[in-house]
Amino acid sequence: MKIIGVLGGMSWESTVVYYQLMNQEVRRRLGGAHSAEILLYSVDFGRIEELQHAGAWDELTAEMIGGARRLAAGGADFLLIATNTMHKMADAVEEASGLEVLHIADATARAVQSAGLRRVGLLGTRFTMEQPFMRERLEGWGLEVLVPPEEDRRAVHRIIYEELVQGVVRDESREVYRGVMARLAQRGARGIILGCTEIGLLVGPEDAPVPVFDTTRIHAVAAVDRALAE
Ligand code: GLU
Repeated sequence: MKIIGVLGGMSWESTVVYYQLMNQEVRRRLGGAHSAEILLYSVDFGRIEELQHAGAWDELTAEMIGGARRLAAGGADFLLIATNTMHKMADAVEEASGLEVLHIADATARAVQSAGLRRVGLLGTRFTMEQPFMRERLEGWGLEVLVPPEEDRRAVHRIIYEELVQGVVRDESREVYRGVMARLAQRGARGIILGCTEIGLLVGPEDAPVPVFDTTRIHAVAAVDRALAE
């Protein structure tokens, strides 16, 4: 089994879910007491979040490269960046660490394709919904990506940073997300990508009129595929 290097803590609320899913998936496949071999570097997200909102992406890239090098030095075989947003610097992290980054968009696009869908809505942080790094990677797989309008993007982003990364899950916010997803479906989205690793804490398949693709779940299973591949 290969050692999965996880750049996590962004936020730890979702890293906990990754950890559980990867271990459950290894147990499901190998049985008995088997579990995943994982190295985790977990950041102080308070600092990361401030830098994100200050637009200090160069500094953040350096932070991610630093974490990735620690994981490489510790013996990780490949890397998982356990957040959609920080895939903005996935290429730089891969190059500087010398470790393959198992890209969250590639794993997600494959899952959408396997479901036979092409036009999807994308929810995530403002950075993920508005900057090209996620959308273009998905489009590279032939997907058509719809993002919510400004007012909905503001609400989706606010709930991630003011609630979900702080471990707060509110029924009112679930209703907001349900509305955003319904409007994307009305505009023609045949599936919804939960493109932020905390969104699965708030909503699931029962909250949307079309299939949802939870990037945390998809990414964690892809990591186990990679770890157990010959
Ligand atoms: N976990 C979130 C994501 O998947 C947001 C936190 C972050 O900005 O890294 O994008």
